[in-house]
Amino acid sequence: MAETRVALVTGGNRGIGLEIVRQLARLGIVTVIGTRDMEKGLAAAEPLSAEGLVTPVVELDVTDIVSIRAAVAQAMGPFGRIDILVNNAGILLERELASQSVASIPIEMIERTLATNAVGPARLIQAVLPMMREQGYGRIVNMSSGLGQLSEMGAGYPGYRMSKAALNALTRTTAAELAETPIKVNAACPGWVKTDMGGPDAPRTAAEGADTAVWLATLPDNGPTGGFFRDRKPIAW
Ligand code: NAP
Repeated sequence: MAETRVALVTGGNRGIGLEIVRQLARLGIVTVIGTRDMEKGLAAAEPLSAEGLVTPVVELDVTDIVSIRAAVAQAMGPFGRIDILVNNAGILLERELASQSVASIPIEMIERTLATNAVGPARLIQAVLPMMREQGYGRIVNMSSGLGQLSEMGAGYPGYRMSKAALNALTRTTAAELAETPIKVNAACPGWVKTDMGGPDAPRTAAEGADTAVWLATLPDNGPTGGFFRDRKPIAW
């Protein structure tokens, strides 16, 4: 890469997001950790800076437009740009329920899930797009899930499934709008990953879960856009 690239990763303080931060920063990309809680974000960044990686930390709640605007302005920092946005922050509130059924899920839980997993990414995209257009470069990666695939849709986790299907729709519609530009927009499924969300029985490490998102975040100019990928391969919507 000819110039210094700047990435912003939402929910970068733990789990898959933190691994995306580590892997992008190891490629020489200034990778900003978006975190709801500065203390957690700074603690996450500490071992990375000990490794010599450049990972500034900004406070960012993806459900709060004021927080998003401030975080994007701060993330641009001395380089005055954001080249890569990874919409990674996500919640799976229904895990707490005894029954994850449409018939009984509190609607408020669906609303909160949509606000974080689908509306938040749309707000972030709106916040970075003007500058990506201006600089003539951009990579947007939406961290989706197999649970959002309409082709595989089954019972359970209705709020989470709705949110990831909506995120997939956001991916395709944004990519279609930007088809004639150098900005690429793709969705990634990390597989089932051992994190606080995935739980201890998941077979994949966070590093494995981060890989496809990092690949999509650093696609060459002739790379794909408007796709959904797992293990760097296209999967059905
Ligand atoms: P995780 O360990 O639970 O971490 C979630 C991250 O999102 C945390 O950094 C959390 O911040 C952040 N977050 C939640 N709400 C936020 C908000 N309103 N604003 C900003 N940040 C917020 O989850 P993970 O397993 O790493 O998952 C990362 C992404 O991959 C998610 O989008 C998830 O849906 C997706 N995914 C995961 C799996 C899996 O098996 N783990 C499978 C498919 C897809 P706090 O620390 O402040 O809570």
